[in-house]
Amino acid sequence: MLDSTIELPRPSPAVMQKATLSLEHALGDSRVMGPGEAIAAYARDDSETSVPPPDLVVLAESWSDVVQTLAIAEKLRVPVTPRAGGTGRTGGAVPLAGGIVLCTRGMDQIVDIDRREGTAVVGPGVILGDFHAAVEAEGLFYPPDPNSWESCCLGGNVAENAAGPRAFKYGPTRDYVLGMKAALMGGQELFLGKRTVKGVTGYDLTSLVVGSEGTLALIGDIHLRLIAAPPAVMTLVALFDNVGKAALAASEITARGVRPRCIELLDAGTLEALRAAGNAVNPRAEALLLMDVDGDDTACERDAERVADAADSIGTIEVLVAQSAAHRDRLWAARRQMSGAVRKMARHKLSEDIVVPRQKIAELLTRVQRSCENFGTRSVSYGHAGDGNLHVNFLWDTDNERPAVSQSIEQLFVDVLELGGTLSGEHGIGVLKAPYLGLEQSDALIGLQKQLKSMFDPHSLLNPGKIFQPNRHGNC
Ligand SMILES: Cc1cc2nc3c(=O)[nH]c(=O)nc-3n(C[C@H](O)[C@H](O)[C@H](O)COP(=O)(O)OP(=O)(O)OC[C@H]3O[C@@H](n4cnc5c(N)ncnc54)[C@H](O)[C@@H]3O)c2cc1C
Repeated sequence: MLDSTIELPRPSPAVMQKATLSLEHALGDSRVMGPGEAIAAYARDDSETSVPPPDLVVLAESWSDVVQTLAIAEKLRVPVTPRAGGTGRTGGAVPLAGGIVLCTRGMDQIVDIDRREGTAVVGPGVILGDFHAAVEAEGLFYPPDPNSWESCCLGGNVAENAAGPRAFKYGPTRDYVLGMKAALMGGQELFLGKRTVKGVTGYDLTSLVVGSEGTLALIGDIHLRLIAAPPAVMTLVALFDNVGKAALAASEITARGVRPRCIELLDAGTLEALRAAGNAVNPRAEALLLMDVDGDDTACERDAERVADAADSIGTIEVLVAQSAAHRDRLWAARRQMSGAVRKMARHKLSEDIVVPRQKIAELLTRVQRSCENFGTRSVSYGHAGDGNLHVNFLWDTDNERPAVSQSIEQLFVDVLELGGTLSGEHGIGVLKAPYLGLEQSDALIGLQKQLKSMFDPHSLLNPGKIFQPNRHGNC
């Protein structure tokens, strides 16, 4: 079993006292939160990672707050952990080495939405759901839709290259980021990428920073590409008597050349959680696919029919089509409830987000079931089957079950890689998956990435302990 416990050296009290004085002087007392009850919330995110509280939290409200914090922190060699909405699933915003949590949640301005150019500029603290509403009010569309959209922020989305159900047709966050303000440890300011919808000047450092999990640079104002809103959307639900058929149907739909905007798969355990949360789900169903098709009315009708035919060819219990916008909303509200509903099934839940070729989903789910039987663990799975991206959720109640859960997780990763998949589809590596990176990537590739990291952050102060396991002296 691999060990995911990481302990990093923290800055001394004397250094933190100097940092506090310098930050209060530069930013004002109200932006700097010292030890006390409120700071504890900044020691965790939406994963099972928990560490002692940071020494300080900086509540940045402007770019200047960010730049000055990075300058002071590097001078005093204090580690900095960037944070936005705190909804991350792999411990990315958790301050492993104490020091400063630099929270950009207060930088929440939608600076511009330009209809003619099809672009927008947003602060890193803008809540994704607020941005969707503002963009849609202009008749435009910003597709990335992690199911946490009510509380996650654009800065966190860019740092994680977040995706969500609609990524199957429209791609993840990276596909929409044109450029951004970035600041390095020490406070050097850069503009990465472009403001226009096209441009290939220089190395594509924008793409490098997207998905870098807060380890390379602080992200400020983000320039985004918007697209035309599809005029109509139709929602279908296909019910199956076993999850293998649901997985095969997802593969059959795409093999027939249809591109729904999302294909979400829910297994038997997930349906049980939804029923327990008060949703009426056909008792014969052991799995379902929730799907949207979009386009004009004719395209929706045609694609819905093709999707239903493909699912029926594998063998459904029934295929339902949502009859109204309210019905659609109810179905998607149940999908969004799922994480919370599953969480109620046990004291602890750890959601892995692996990807396999979609034709291998059924094989993977069989292997997960076998491994749970072998190790005596429990899991339920759901996720973005169109992309082959499944959230395998391990559930446990007592600490003495944890070693078996770790064995199941490691077996999951081994199976995923044997089937030609990858460790993370959208949640990132963070701290939880760092011990497993070497299962997928060669030493040479990990070494090259560490060299890149050291060019951006020579003293390994920015989000230490994330993505790459620290070496013995505590550096990334
Ligand atoms: C119920 C639920 C459903 C979810 N569904 C999905 C889903 O469908 N798809 C998906 O992709 N994810 C999903 N997630 C995971 C999570 O919401 C995403 O990873 C999201 O992008 C995190 O955004 P955040 O603002 O909460 O970031 P945080 O958790 O605060 O931070 C995430 C990472 O970004 C870094 N960071 C934050 N702000 C900055 C900044 N300004 N500059 C540099 N780095 C920064 C942090 O250091 C950290 O490494 C879900 C989470 C929950 C709780």
